[in-house]
Amino acid sequence: MTRFIFITGGVVSSLGKGLSSAALGALLQARGFKVRLRKLDPYLNVDPGTMSPYQHGEVYVTDDGAETDLDLGHYERYVGVAARRSDSVTTGRIYSTVIGRERRGEYLGATVQVIPHVTDAIKEFIQADLADEDFVLCEIGGTVGDIESLPFLEAIRQLGNELGRERVLFVHLTLVPWIASAGELKTKPTQHSAKELLGLGIQPDILLCRCERPIPPSARKKIALFCNLRESRVIPALDVDTIYAVPGAYHAEGFDREVCTHFGIAAPEPDLERWNEIVSRISKPEGRVTIAIVGKYTHLPDSYKSLAEAMTHGGIANNVGVDVDWIDSEVFEAEAEVLRQLDGVHGIIVPGGFGERGSEGKIAAARFARERRLPYFGICFGMQMAVIEAARHLAGLRGAGSTEFGPCDHPVVGLMTEWVRGNTLERRESEGDLGGTMRLGAYEAVLAPDSRVGEIYATTRISERHRHRYEVNIGYKQTLEATGMRFSGMSPDGMLPEIVELPDHPWFIGVQFHPELKSKPFDPHPLFASFVRAAVDQSRLV
Ligand code: GLN
Repeated sequence: MTRFIFITGGVVSSLGKGLSSAALGALLQARGFKVRLRKLDPYLNVDPGTMSPYQHGEVYVTDDGAETDLDLGHYERYVGVAARRSDSVTTGRIYSTVIGRERRGEYLGATVQVIPHVTDAIKEFIQADLADEDFVLCEIGGTVGDIESLPFLEAIRQLGNELGRERVLFVHLTLVPWIASAGELKTKPTQHSAKELLGLGIQPDILLCRCERPIPPSARKKIALFCNLRESRVIPALDVDTIYAVPGAYHAEGFDREVCTHFGIAAPEPDLERWNEIVSRISKPEGRVTIAIVGKYTHLPDSYKSLAEAMTHGGIANNVGVDVDWIDSEVFEAEAEVLRQLDGVHGIIVPGGFGERGSEGKIAAARFARERRLPYFGICFGMQMAVIEAARHLAGLRGAGSTEFGPCDHPVVGLMTEWVRGNTLERRESEGDLGGTMRLGAYEAVLAPDSRVGEIYATTRISERHRHRYEVNIGYKQTLEATGMRFSGMSPDGMLPEIVELPDHPWFIGVQFHPELKSKPFDPHPLFASFVRAAVDQSRLV
């Protein structure tokens, strides 16, 4: 029997609902249950693929090629279950489904309305594509009180009735602010938020209260009283040093125990050994390395969420802490600036990116890493920039560039309009809609067995996630290989370069995919583990 846990948020946004959901999922999993996590987002975009990273942070890509909210990345990292397209639902997607049905006459002449047609569609999505999960945790994006999230809240209220309280639980995440001038914690915003939810017909079963200092028993009692809950159902969620300490902290406050009590299930205590282990590795590193990430959205760390996490995982694998220097590629297009900002770092990453702005700075970073023999990891756009750099400075193709930036003499990176996935030919229309037109999701690659990446992955066949329109132009393979750059990973049909490396360099690898999307704290991605290892070696040299 699948049970549903709905997580809503109140008072303010950015309280970390995604992490809270992921942490509860991890606790239930550690008790031996099979879990799945889903996100319902109230915006009208069909998916976040067309949203600017400035607005919405990273776009997380699933194996099945869905462009989703970054919270799905937290879910995967915490519970290790590969997220699917069906785990991400937006208002835009719901409405396009409903309108599609209406156009096909499927409503048989009925007046199509938010209740019941939109809410029915939401309920369908919530319950779709499930097998034998014990728990499905659904996070509702936005904050209670927003007009946009009303249909979602109405749909989960209905589900609470239809499935019964023995199969549905409502968790509400709120804020208990500390008012410095009064020297007090304030419970009123939480009371109001719970009241707002109750006004929509939802009595929260558990309140998760974010707070920067311990909530005294009197405040907890007050919240319980005013919000119509037992005290044990008011769970303090205090700030912790690392996000991977959240499951342990929630467990200590009885969160998972209260969930089990609500459903009347007697489950064994969770085994949190592996969580404790990674928390202790993160909090007691044996050394530190500094990695420069040279990108365009560096002042907004959410834009590179999975990358930042993958760096932490690489650190865990090597027992070191990784300090990241976020460097805006635009500000250091002048040579002197490159030297000043990159001096002393132990490795350089040029991450994924789009558009010409800042690209010369990224090319300069790749050159600096190549010439100084500093570990370089080029991810997607970062691989493309490294290839342009090699073409210009090693192969002497001065006009080398990417057609993403307009026509150029040597398009070493260009638009591919057709490619093969398994046995099928896929096409990209250059004039088509922008949404979902990239090479998206999991693709296999074949690695040269005697290459650096072959050694790192310890296999010759890999599957990694993609999200890009442009590809390294195979027409320049020979010219580039003649300079010493090796094409060590290719698509199975041999048409698309997936990995390039410089065998004569301590660690210089560019990958066309996004390995950061698959890295987990318990299972650091081999490329990140190896890259951080190389940075550690570098730190011993200087
Ligand atoms: N802009 C490049 C492309 O579309 C790279 C994309 C990325 O880094 N994700 O191919």
